[in-house]
Order: sequence, then structure tokens, then C-alpha cells
Amino acid sequence: MSTIDNLTLNPIQTFGNQSLNCPFCSSTNSKKQHGVAGFLFLYCNHCKSVFRSDAHVVVAFEYPEEYYGDAEKEKFWFAPIVWMLNSERRSRTRYIAKRIPLANTSVIDIGCGNGALLTRIQQKTNCNAIGIEMDSVAARRASKNTKLSIISKPFQEVDLPLHSFDAVVTIHSFEHIAQPQQNLEKASRLVKTDGMLYIAIPNIASFQYKLFGRYWLHLDPEFHLHFIHPDFIKSTMLSKGFMFRKARHFNPVQNIPGFVLSALNLVTGKRDVLFDMLRNRKKLRNPFNVLLFLLLLILSAVLLPIAITEELVSVALGRGATVDFVFSKNKPV
Ligand SMILES: [Zn+2]
Repeated sequence: MSTIDNLTLNPIQTFGNQSLNCPFCSSTNSKKQHGVAGFLFLYCNHCKSVFRSDAHVVVAFEYPEEYYGDAEKEKFWFAPIVWMLNSERRSRTRYIAKRIPLANTSVIDIGCGNGALLTRIQQKTNCNAIGIEMDSVAARRASKNTKLSIISKPFQEVDLPLHSFDAVVTIHSFEHIAQPQQNLEKASRLVKTDGMLYIAIPNIASFQYKLFGRYWLHLDPEFHLHFIHPDFIKSTMLSKGFMFRKARHFNPVQNIPGFVLSALNLVTGKRDVLFDMLRNRKKLRNPFNVLLFLLLLILSAVLLPIAITEELVSVALGRGATVDFVFSKNKPV
């Protein structure tokens, strides 16, 4: 039985309304937020984070192959999406490369996926590049670049020298890993003095989450274990001796499709129908699905102007659906 199946054995009724410790602030003052896909999500009244009732349980996570899509190199086969993902990677690479030293540089990407971002950073800076990715289709894709050292072990089990990285990067991976406070602690200790921690996460304080709740794309209930509140990650990092550098809310690549797909979840009452088709081309072998795919694309086009408006308003008010946080370490911790 896969770990995913094991996790679904934790149905809502197991925990009822029982309060569990928040994985960020340890408070027991939490309330039930959603029951989605057999998982219970709780809201912490103290730090305003949201977490799955099993966010503290470390399991040898095994994602279904479908999760990584059926294209050769990427999670998505649909060319416009790959183009958008590459533009997002270019933008992050530019930001990071400008702010790390030119020689003897080390970068680690925790949850590096197919290694596409790390590859760009390595090519631009010639850094020593380490990627952590659990054994999966993604890790195999990343390992094809021999200039990257890919480690397929849980982050907490990886033995790495402290204070040795100019940039510790984690892009939409943090929320997948259990025991987030311990992971943040370990990631912080890996950063050199004057180095940076670059962390991209879904934003639980976003308008999209307020609007769509349990239908929000980024809730991704099977795989996202926790959502730290932006204010709490800032205060946590400051307490670890870091300085807050930026919170980038503008991310049309994540946020505009995120709005459209969340709206489709709401309208169809089913999660991620179009999203799964964009990942797995084989789903389109069925003529009915081809028709559905076209219909959902048309509906997406209709929703697009609303999604763009939401992104602009959210960016202006600092409530983007995803946020890239950058912190720099100004003293050894
Ligand atoms: Zn909390």
C-alpha cells in the first residue's frame, strides 16, 4: 500500500474537532477549517497558519507517478505552461544570481523537482549546486544534469555542513514536508552569514484562499501539509537572526492560472480536472475528455480577465496567492 493510501486512512472522524498542536507555534488553540478529500485542515487561532491534522507525521512519502505528469522533462506537456514556468525560473535565477558571490558559491534547492531552476542558477553562477528531491520521476529528471548533485533523502536526514550555502532555495516544497518548524530551523542553519533563504509558498492570507476556501488550487489537500501565515514566517525568521528582504506577491505564472483552476474546481465541484489533463496527456486519449478539455479551456478564457484583475488587486494589497519570501542572514545562528 502506498503512503498516500496510508494517509487517506486518517479520515476526518478520527480527529473530530479535536485540537492538535500547531506545527509552527505549538499552540493547541486551533479550530476545524476544512475537511477535504479525507483530510482535516485546522486553523491556528494563535499564529493564523493552517495545517493538516497530520502535518507533524513524518512518512516516507511516495507520490504517484501521475503527480509528475507524463511528459519527458516537465510536469506539464502543454507548451504554454512550460513556457510560463521557464519565465518564472528565469526571473528567480536573475534575482538569486545577482545577490550571491561570483566565486566559490554554493546553492541548495530543497525539493528541487526536475532541477530546472537549479540548472539555470548553476549555469549562470557556476556554483556548487545541490538538490534535494525524494526518489521519484522528478529526481531522475534532475539527475540527468551531471553538474547537479541530487540527494534523494528526506531533508531532515541529509547531513550537510552548517553555514555553508550562499543561497538556500525552496520553491513550493516547504508545504509538502512534515515538521515545518524543524525544516525551517535546519534550512536557516545551512545559510552562510550574508547568505539568503529564498522560500516560495502558497499564501494562506491571500484573497484567493478567502474566496475559494476548500476549492483553492493551492490547498492541494493530498500533498500540502501546512500553510504558514506570512506574518508568522517573517517573525520566525527575524527571531533566527535573519533580515526580511522582500515578499514578492506578483507571480502571474502561479496566481492567474491558480485563480482560473480554483474557479473551475468551484464550478465543477471536482478538484483539478483540467489541471490533471494538463499534466497527463494520456487522459486525452478518451474522446469525451478531449471535449471536456476544450470546454474547460474556453471557460478558462472567459475567466481570464477576472483572474488578471484579481492578481493586480492582490499584488497592490500584498495578498497574492503565492509569495516568494527572501531573508538574508546578518549574523551567525
Ligand atoms: Zn500556530
